[in-house]
Amino acid sequence: MMKYINKELTIENFRIKNLAKKFTTPIYCYSFNKLKENIQNFKNNFKSINPLICFSVKSNSNTKLLREISKFGLGADVVSAGELMKALLAGIKPNKIVFSGVGKTSKELNFAINKKILLINTESKSEILEIERIAKIKKKKINIGIRLNPNIDAKTLSQISTGKKENKFGVDEKKFLELVKYVKKSKNLDLKCLSVHIGSQILNDDPYGKMLDILDKVIKKSKHVFEYIDLGGGIGIDYNNNNQNLNLNKYSRNIEKFLKNNKSKIIFEPGRYIVGNIAVLISQITYIKEGHKKDFVILDAGMNDLIRPALYNSIHRIIPVKAKSKLSNKDYEFVGPICESTDKFLTVKKFQKLDEKDLIIICDVGAYGISLSSNYNMRPKPFEILIKKSKIKILSKRQKLLDLM
Ligand SMILES: *Cc1c(COP(=O)(O)O)cnc(C)c1O
Repeated sequence: MMKYINKELTIENFRIKNLAKKFTTPIYCYSFNKLKENIQNFKNNFKSINPLICFSVKSNSNTKLLREISKFGLGADVVSAGELMKALLAGIKPNKIVFSGVGKTSKELNFAINKKILLINTESKSEILEIERIAKIKKKKINIGIRLNPNIDAKTLSQISTGKKENKFGVDEKKFLELVKYVKKSKNLDLKCLSVHIGSQILNDDPYGKMLDILDKVIKKSKHVFEYIDLGGGIGIDYNNNNQNLNLNKYSRNIEKFLKNNKSKIIFEPGRYIVGNIAVLISQITYIKEGHKKDFVILDAGMNDLIRPALYNSIHRIIPVKAKSKLSNKDYEFVGPICESTDKFLTVKKFQKLDEKDLIIICDVGAYGISLSSNYNMRPKPFEILIKKSKIKILSKRQKLLDLM
């Protein structure tokens, strides 16, 4: 997707310098080719299972991008009425939409029920009772799933782990079995699905293997035939560019084995895997400020545009747009303009020498980039563009300061 031509970085054959000039930085720049490649890879890897793939809208909820994703036949995993509305607006059919989250309000549940979505994945007894109450009033039978908390360490960052018993998500095995009994007796609820989601940015095979073993055991105990098993998302990507990847093939074979005992349709809810590496954030250096042991490279992008490093200490590689052979003599700390000490992206030893006004790109920002961005410090949200078939499509325009007033 990116390469240097005459020492100048290009993305899908567009000179980044020209994009920066045309739209002014910071810019989120997405590649359609990469999106297509990721979706095809995902489908190919799990071909033998023929799953329903529900894109996790919270990872990127740009309507135009969602529309592109829906054209590949993907459904949506949503976690709020707003995301549900977005998915519908982008043309995703209700029968391909699942609704997750621990705190869906009555209003949100009503909305989802009216839209006749595929599944509401519940996470507590109280939520189940609330859906039953609404369903009775509407004289309907509602398809639900129950989210199991399998008490597994996903071996990822603690902030994005969701499947351990101390996390707020899902219910433990004992509660799960109780709830299955309850729902099966209900006239207004139809228990269609068992769902799990053990965390995000998972690169280790073991947790998924363990998860499947636990599911197999719990399903047997429940004596219920689930039409759907929703395995959630969480597949990690190679942020460090050192070929660290999850063995999807192995995961797929494990699922095949699991399906021999359980005749269910598999649902996946990938977010990061689909869009994580399809975008870069283009930014210009405003100032370079000398520090004691390092120099601060102050960018025009800040933690309001990309909060993952500040929020999770996560790594996003930084690459210069113009390649120069001279190295800097001090370490560089890439920071934003926001008035917070956590507003820093990366510290690098031995980077090429940079100058004020140079352009850089921050890599792999397609997932949880713009969707976690804010107007903190009264900064407008940046431009988002998509390169598709040698054309540039505007996904969203930079906000104007007046929009914020
Ligand atoms: C966040 C989330 C996902 C997507 O996670 P990724 O790591 O982006 O694949 C899927 N399902 C649920 C329930 C989630 O909360």
